[in-house]
Amino acid sequence: MPVIVTGIVFAMLPDADVIGFGFGVDYGDRWGHRGATHSLAFAAAAALAATALLRPERYGVAALFLFVSMASHGLLDMLTNGGLGVALFWPLETVRHFAPFTPIAVSPIGLSDFISARGIKVLYSEAIWIWIPLTLIAAAGFGIRKRTRLWFRQNGMER
Ligand SMILES: [Zn+2]
Repeated sequence: MPVIVTGIVFAMLPDADVIGFGFGVDYGDRWGHRGATHSLAFAAAAALAATALLRPERYGVAALFLFVSMASHGLLDMLTNGGLGVALFWPLETVRHFAPFTPIAVSPIGLSDFISARGIKVLYSEAIWIWIPLTLIAAAGFGIRKRTRLWFRQNGMER
């Protein structure tokens, strides 16, 4: 359970980079919005660090789940129709990338914008189309895993 909660937090955590705006970091900077925190390398490092702290029963599955949770954020941002692209391959390169098609309305930046009606509407549409299905899939995956393990145990088969 702590792993799933961490995964949900991880899916949103990259956007904590907007606090950099308050310290004079530019959007296009390495540590600017959609910069380093949205990269695959950052997701991998964060997943490994969190797994080391959480010490889950199944280390590999947890690490992979957390990596996918965070990496999916950068990948989904690449599908948005505004702002700068994502520094997906930081630190190898700092180029910002977009996906070949960008069907998702971009979230407004900054806390005051987030609270605005438009911000709430965008977050709402993101919640419906992205986070709810992803969370259900992840939860279902863990549930099925647990049930199959139980079934194997009840039938005298240990995996
Ligand atoms: Zn983002």
